[in-house]
Amino acid sequence: MFKLVKTISDAFGNDINLYAQTCTTAKENILLVARFHGDEPEGEFCLRELMKEAQDQELVSPYNIYITPCLNPSGKELFTRANGHKIDLNRNYPTQNFTDVSFNPHTKELSSGTPASEIETKFMIETVIQYNFVRILSIHSDLHLIDYDGPARDLALRFSAMCHYKLVDNIGYATNGSFGTWVGIEKQIPLITVETWHAENENDMAKIWSELKPAIWDFCKLTSA
Ligand SMILES: [Zn+2]
Repeated sequence: MFKLVKTISDAFGNDINLYAQTCTTAKENILLVARFHGDEPEGEFCLRELMKEAQDQELVSPYNIYITPCLNPSGKELFTRANGHKIDLNRNYPTQNFTDVSFNPHTKELSSGTPASEIETKFMIETVIQYNFVRILSIHSDLHLIDYDGPARDLALRFSAMCHYKLVDNIGYATNGSFGTWVGIEKQIPLITVETWHAENENDMAKIWSELKPAIWDFCKLTSA
């Protein structure tokens, strides 16, 4: 069962929430996060389904599982990739390779702001430092692949085999200042990034969840009690 453990307000008065299912015997923490980009609802749908399932039945894991289903509520409201400040939250991390404008295949160019200028980024940095996660899963759309950063190759191979999404070593374009660069490459925390295919409607999202569910349960080492 997931409970709200932390809420902060973004610059527009929206809540950003962190939920957790903890267990007194679990020593390690893991994180699942989605909706870095407001126009990518697929990952949030999956994480909310997972939390619903944990509500309806007792799911057990050797990990304390932390979930932020929507990191970008202002972008969600506008249905834009960027947040309400028109900044790409997945390029706003204070990495060595930070650049203030970045390229992406969706909107082409977007501002990256200044390193960790956004509340959403500060929230994520603080959360990663506070909980010392041993593995992180981040869900985006819509390139239909699995990518990874840091010491996560074996984990990514396993995840890819379970959901039948193809595994790539590199997403194919520069992602300076990304969460993956900061957390995976620079902090060496294993990070799997899932890029789902594009959902046209709720039925598609349910289909995506059914494809990803075994791999996500395995990632969380979840079992029905
Ligand atoms: Zn994205």
